[in-house]
Amino acid sequence: MSKAKVLLVEDNKLQADIIREFLSRNGYEVVTVDNGVAAFKAAQMHHVDIVLLDRILPDMDGGDVCRWLKIDPNTRDIPIIMLTAKAGLDDKISGLEAGADDYLPKPFEESELNARIFVRLRSKAHQDELKQKNRQLEDMLMRVESLAIMDPLTGLYNRRRFEAILSTEFKRSHRYNNPLSCLVIDVDHFKKINDTHGHQTGDAVLKECAQVIQNTIREVDTAARWGGEEFIILVPNTSKENGKRAAERIWKAVGGHAFAVLPGVQVTVSIGVAGIPDPAIQTTEQLIHTADVAMYEAKKKGRNRVESS
Ligand code: GH3
Ligand code: MG
Ligand code: MG
Ligand code: MG
Repeated sequence: MSKAKVLLVEDNKLQADIIREFLSRNGYEVVTVDNGVAAFKAAQMHHVDIVLLDRILPDMDGGDVCRWLKIDPNTRDIPIIMLTAKAGLDDKISGLEAGADDYLPKPFEESELNARIFVRLRSKAHQDELKQKNRQLEDMLMRVESLAIMDPLTGLYNRRRFEAILSTEFKRSHRYNNPLSCLVIDVDHFKKINDTHGHQTGDAVLKECAQVIQNTIREVDTAARWGGEEFIILVPNTSKENGKRAAERIWKAVGGHAFAVLPGVQVTVSIGVAGIPDPAIQTTEQLIHTADVAMYEAKKKGRNRVESS
């Protein structure tokens, strides 16, 4: 382990020399300054582990240095031990109020200073460890959360997330009498792409399809991977007729896209569109089913087209 670094702020040169000598002897690395401004700069620059702060300094009160250090996010976790000739209760309290972690009246026994530094460094090490664990937990939580809502291959929302969003939008649409449409997209003859070019290329095609779709829809629309080589899009505030237009844009964009992994090969999609208001559609399941039926209709008619219910 590297030596702990102590910032010693002491304007009395004789005392500074004594304390520095003692600290060095006890295995600490010491940075010494003799005024408040320099203390602040040194704490910023030197990555110190602890500050020993004289209360009375030529340019300012040690309490102010303390307050500065505790306000700045870069330095506020550094423990501060105030050293002072003032041993009155009021001084102790005002020092602690300024944010000092400990208070040691001069003259002090070296062994006591040593013990107090040790205690502060130990609790700072604990705190650092806790903070790091917290960060790791937060990272993990974020990964778990994104796993729960994202399709890992395409980066689009997964089916579960789509269903949740659809449920909300469907209710909103009913409540405010707004139209809403839903598009089911299925890649044509995708099995053949897998069989001819390999599963890995198939994966890459799905990824690119997802990108093309995402780039074609509006920000308020929601695209998700429904499963396999099927995607689903929710187009809020949009009638079935206009939903069909959105579908045609996607159909054209995918059909005209030059796939990086399949040079010279055209990939096409069949898209089914359904929308509300529609007397036959009262639930989200019915909406999706109706779009799915329209998509199968497109397949039946020869694929590479858009059909609506
Ligand atoms: P159609 O035009 O009738 O839709 O024909 P198709 O070949 O696209 O449809 P089919 O349902 O016969 O085949 C879909 C294929 O998609 C079969 C399956 O192995 C493949 N598939 C599903 N998920 C993935 C995936 O994540 N990656 C890859 N590479 N292939 C997948
Ligand atoms: Mg002094
Ligand atoms: Mg399919
Ligand atoms: Mg297919």
